[in-house]
Amino acid sequence: MIQRAKAIINGIVQGVGFRPFIYQLAKKKGLGGYIANTSMGVDIEVEGELGEIENFFQEIHTRKPPLARIVHIERQYLPPQHYKDFVIRKSLVQAHRSALVAPDVGVCDDCLREMNDPRDHRYRYPFINCTNCGPRYTIIKDIPYDRDKTSMASFLMCEKCRKEYEDPVDRRFHAQPNACWKCGPIVRLYQSSNRPVEGVDPISETCKLLKSGKIIGIKGLGGFHLAVDATDGKAVERLRERKHREEKPLALISPSIERIEQYAYVSPLEAQVLQSPQSPIVLLRKKEQNAISSEVAPRSCCFGVMLPYAPLHHLILQEGFLALVLTSGNISEEPIAIDNKEAFRRLSGIADYFLVHNRDIYLRNDDSVVRVLGQKVRMIRRSRGYVPVPVTLDRGIRPTLACGPFLANTVCLGKGNNAFLSQHVGDLENLETFEAFERTIDHLKAILEIDPEVIAYDLHPDYLSTQYATKQTGVRKVGVQHHHAHIASCMAENGITGPVIGLAMDGTGYGTDGTVWGGEILLTNFHSFERVGHFQNVSLPGGEAAIREPWRMALEYLHHAFGKGLFDLPIEFVKRLDPKKAKIILTMIEKNINSPQTSSCGRLFDGVAALLGLRDRAFYRGQAAVELEMEMGGGKGSYSVVIGEEGEELIIPHGPIIRGVISDLIEGIDRRTISRKFHNTLVRLFTDTCIKLRDRRNLNRVALSGGVFQNAFLLAELEKVLLDLGFEVYTHSVVPTNDGGISLGQIMVANAVLDREK
Ligand code: ZN
Ligand code: ZN
Ligand code: FE
Repeated sequence: MIQRAKAIINGIVQGVGFRPFIYQLAKKKGLGGYIANTSMGVDIEVEGELGEIENFFQEIHTRKPPLARIVHIERQYLPPQHYKDFVIRKSLVQAHRSALVAPDVGVCDDCLREMNDPRDHRYRYPFINCTNCGPRYTIIKDIPYDRDKTSMASFLMCEKCRKEYEDPVDRRFHAQPNACWKCGPIVRLYQSSNRPVEGVDPISETCKLLKSGKIIGIKGLGGFHLAVDATDGKAVERLRERKHREEKPLALISPSIERIEQYAYVSPLEAQVLQSPQSPIVLLRKKEQNAISSEVAPRSCCFGVMLPYAPLHHLILQEGFLALVLTSGNISEEPIAIDNKEAFRRLSGIADYFLVHNRDIYLRNDDSVVRVLGQKVRMIRRSRGYVPVPVTLDRGIRPTLACGPFLANTVCLGKGNNAFLSQHVGDLENLETFEAFERTIDHLKAILEIDPEVIAYDLHPDYLSTQYATKQTGVRKVGVQHHHAHIASCMAENGITGPVIGLAMDGTGYGTDGTVWGGEILLTNFHSFERVGHFQNVSLPGGEAAIREPWRMALEYLHHAFGKGLFDLPIEFVKRLDPKKAKIILTMIEKNINSPQTSSCGRLFDGVAALLGLRDRAFYRGQAAVELEMEMGGGKGSYSVVIGEEGEELIIPHGPIIRGVISDLIEGIDRRTISRKFHNTLVRLFTDTCIKLRDRRNLNRVALSGGVFQNAFLLAELEKVLLDLGFEVYTHSVVPTNDGGISLGQIMVANAVLDREK
């Protein structure tokens, strides 16, 4: 008997080759009906034998295109309509939108093959793409995802392209960015003065210029990059100077895994991530002997490396490079440039030439950064390739906007069971970044059609994101404590509910008592938390300045541990101290001048790094801590510390740690051993804390979050020890453990707080 089934499929099903897949599947099974894109996803009707229909729906799950993601299928059976054929219908525009937009995806193998085939009409075409690859999120203005709603709208397809676009069995069927030499975007080379370089092949010329040590601004998928030959030390040095980027590692791009293996170690899982359609930057351990300039990642044991993802990158890297530096096109911490005019204006002091194209980028999207740790991929920066794929929640939430933190800001829009984290916005400390923040919110609201009823924001009154939140009208506003958000974020991505023991080990976050928190032990539910412990407070002499200058923290820790006697300690750090400056700092601390109290764990890393002579001044956030981790040897030793108690609160003292470090220094113990003992000490302290809380509160779940857990050793070791003790341990993987993951936690907390009110 003939049956008709109607289904609505929700998820990432537009712009990923879903309709041709369904079309071919229905044809193969001899089913009649149709498929159409709607604002909610796709509508499908199929008609035929019941068995075939059931098979059809089964195979949707098992054989769907690689980029498709099905969140929900709603299906019902109806009386037959007697369809004669299976067709792809025109997109339906509906008022209610819940279709998910696909992320930008690296070029696929089929397209690469064509691009490298001299007989193909897209031979060496830098914008080749198909339904399985190419730009998506960064070129979309609105949904449904159709060409006239993208920045491809201004390019009229030639006859050949249109034929592919309209042919349901073609692999470019409804590939919205479809284009060729004849009809699509083109690249052009310009001098930094904005004068075009005529009469040359722009890509070959770019390669020549790179080989002669020039800096090229290259327009990519999510914004401009600055490129130089990574083996040319002088060129890299010049790039650093002009970009005002002193020591922070620069990202590399190499043509193949084989090339990468000439300078870094690549495990099978790392290779898999490098080659994934998301093609993020992956942190890889350097090889001792390598031809990459030492200026690329000074003092770091890792390189951040990616493979080419845009066809344009492939064309450039095919010209015999080992690796190029490919760093974001900005000056120090401003957002990356996306617009051609903007790039000339902002980057002409850095780049010698520009390789630009005329396909507009609507939304900037930085390269994502990941690291493989404990056989898990860990996000450090979740952006291009991953955004806007939602994090699936285990509960439904109100339409909510979370404004995120101050540093490494991302925002998050959520509704129902989906939380959409934005791309990396950056540090909200300048107007440009704040504008990017507002634009990101507006854009996400439009393409996801989420009109927030609730706004979640950080408790810090001075943050631009907080000010943005308080200015909004007609919505409920919920302030969320920074470290509560950290732990809630970890709970949300792991699909668990409270109460849990939350270890939020971090740099800075505004505490409910007005001090600067950052080494917190929180018994956490989504709706509330109890601060059951923290690191003993110290002063932050000079506030922000103490974060930029770890030596100030070292002095403060010494002052705590030894009082005025610190000046008699026979250690290098004290000999190095400028007595005048030291006196000023100590006076600030004693008189409590611009020296807020902090329980930060990150600052303790800074202080110890400075005491060991690793770093007195940090050029980027977390630098001292990163270098302390890298300067680590083996051994099981640790410092003996007893966890204190003040009333109900557990206090982790720093005095015994500092005194231990100093006595080792005096005894001439090498700093690799001291660093290891310091790390071991923290693992033990955190473990002891969890055991105490398990006994007292009968809790067995531990969630680890905060920037300090980017420390690979600490995370891996602590997880292992806790698991051995029978704890259930939850860590971050799909969202960053740093502040990039905060907005997800804010969304969860705000909703739980409102649920409680009811
Ligand atoms: Zn392709
Ligand atoms: Zn064409
Ligand atoms: Fe944080």
